Amino acid sequence: MLKTLFVCAMLILASGAQAQNTAPKKLEVVNLQLRWLPQFQFAGYYAAVEKGFYAEEGLDVRLHAGAPDRQPVAEVMAGRAQYAEGNSEVLLARLQGKPLVALAAIFQHSASVLLALRKSGIHTAHDLVGKKVMFMDSKNDPDFLTMLLNEGISPDKVSILPSSFNFDDLITGKVDAFNSYLTNEPFFLRQRGIEFTVINPGNYRADFYSDILFTTEDEVRNHPKRVEAMRRATLKGWRYAMANPDEIIDLLIDKYQVKKSRAHLAFEADAMRPLILPDLVEIGYMNPERWRHMADAYVRAGIAEPGYSLQGFLYEAPGQKQLLDWVMRTLLAAIVLLVLISMVAAYFVKINRRLVSAESRLRKVNEALSGNLAEIRELHLRLQEQAIRDPLTGLFNRRYLDETLERELARAKRDGYAITLAMIDLDHFKLVNDTYGHTAGDEVLKDLGRLLQAQAREGDIPCRFGGEEFLLVFPRMTLEVARQRAEQWRETFSQRKTRHGDLEIAVTMSVGLASYPDHGATAEVLLESADQALYKAKAAGRNRVEIAGTA
Ligand code: GH3
Ligand code: MG
Ligand code: MG
Repeated sequence: MLKTLFVCAMLILASGAQAQNTAPKKLEVVNLQLRWLPQFQFAGYYAAVEKGFYAEEGLDVRLHAGAPDRQPVAEVMAGRAQYAEGNSEVLLARLQGKPLVALAAIFQHSASVLLALRKSGIHTAHDLVGKKVMFMDSKNDPDFLTMLLNEGISPDKVSILPSSFNFDDLITGKVDAFNSYLTNEPFFLRQRGIEFTVINPGNYRADFYSDILFTTEDEVRNHPKRVEAMRRATLKGWRYAMANPDEIIDLLIDKYQVKKSRAHLAFEADAMRPLILPDLVEIGYMNPERWRHMADAYVRAGIAEPGYSLQGFLYEAPGQKQLLDWVMRTLLAAIVLLVLISMVAAYFVKINRRLVSAESRLRKVNEALSGNLAEIRELHLRLQEQAIRDPLTGLFNRRYLDETLERELARAKRDGYAITLAMIDLDHFKLVNDTYGHTAGDEVLKDLGRLLQAQAREGDIPCRFGGEEFLLVFPRMTLEVARQRAEQWRETFSQRKTRHGDLEIAVTMSVGLASYPDHGATAEVLLESADQALYKAKAAGRNRVEIAGTA
């Protein structure tokens, strides 16, 4: 999976741009319709012709001046020109079904405004209500219509007249507001010292592109290289003209018999700068969003239908397309790589998490195990201890005695020393139970256990033999010494009283002694001998120590 993604990313990057750019070498005649008479407004086109930018592209471009009956859209649609420069009416025509394609927007902001004389008191769009206003394209001028509608002014409230193209109509007061170009008519008014006001649709959310180089879909489809060449050379001409306005002004005066004065042309060039913004925006730049904004404004103005499509209207230069492709490819590759890196990172994070969790589990198991081990060890020891201890007295039990006595005897035989056994039985113990109760009897047993334990030497083995019988094994102890000790215990015990609640219970004991090797060599025989001696003590009246008869 990771490998596949990586290969994908590499392939996307590798499928990079393929170099292409071959301009046609033969000069082709191309007709370009301008909007109006030669003036600085079309400087870029004249520059492109004059500086040979079109020729460099193999084009012989013929520029046609505009006139009231030679409008750009109509000329292109009639096929009299393949290219033209038009205002926002280009978009309107497109929305109305004419297959036009916008190649470049030379003016980022339209120069189209309404001028009024200051004395008329018209300052804002609202002041146009009830006034005679000339629109360039009769009632269809999108800039002005959008402005009115954006301000909530019904166009019916304004007396709209088609343009007379005669500026004197404003000066003489024949009309109240006149469709003008910011780059042109204000010059006359200033020259004559006439005060005026400007009503600019751009200030009323009708900020539109203008002076748009356009062609037809047919041209784009059938002559893609020519389209690209036209666009390239035109924009080069515009860059040149905006960088060298004086040179183009000279050219217009010398070669194109322009009617405007040099001062007027210079005014025009200056006024165009904030509209073209050559230092800020790449000349010809078009933002699809802004076109959509314009189209939406037309829909709102009721001069275009909603649900329109701009598909195919905006020309995509191959260079831009390549750049876009490259950007898209790089972006895609970056995304794939990012996904790849994220996956690897996520994988490591996952592994790491697992390791951490396994480690913590292991630690817990370890802790539990070591805790348990200690417990188990303790339990084991306890069980071992319990297995050899009598629960009531804490002395060794019979089982332990059986195992140990054999072992001790074997050792005594090997090392040649004596072992003495003392068998103890309480006297009349039944009576104690019967008199004081079984629990009291238990107390006595425990008391004797404590005494035997306290008196035992190291190596002695004190056991509870069963019931109220006890057996003590004294390794390396002669019969005589054992007898003295037994005598001492008997004496001590007979003096002692066991406390149980308020009771003080006195019990005596009888002891029978037998020893190895005097009375036998096996555990069985020795136990029998001790028992026999005990019997002797009982028979002799109890509370005594007796030694077994010789074997
Ligand atoms: P003697 O030995 O002097 O002949 O008389 P005795 O009354 O002690 O007789 P025997 O040894 O035959 O009886 C043992 C009695 O010990 C029987 C039983 O009631 C009592 N006994 C045995 N084991 C226990 C015990 O664990 N607790 C108590 N309280 N009594 C026990
Ligand atoms: Mg007994
Ligand atoms: Mg007894």
